[in-house]
Amino acid sequence: MSIQILEEKDCGRAVLICTPGPDFAFGPVFRSADEAAAFLEWLPLDPRDCSEDTLARKLDQFRERPTRPCPGCGDEIDADAERCEMCDRIGAENDT
Ligand SMILES: [Zn+2]
Repeated sequence: MSIQILEEKDCGRAVLICTPGPDFAFGPVFRSADEAAAFLEWLPLDPRDCSEDTLARKLDQFRERPTRPCPGCGDEIDADAERCEMCDRIGAENDT
């Protein structure tokens, strides 16, 4: 079983679904598929094992975490990230 992101085309929001299996979405509604993907990467837990309350709390933490723009690609990365997931740049801060 794996987790997939289902994106709503008109508004761009996204939800998590579990595949294969019964067609059920679970967890919070994300602002975008990108946010959902970043949240899954950031979350140290399996969201399928979390209650809705836990996921809501984790999403708040995720949205409030300190971030900085990657000097390589401009993507928003964790303030303490050692490498950028988008451009795979290591030690992004030390570049000129
Ligand atoms: Zn980057």
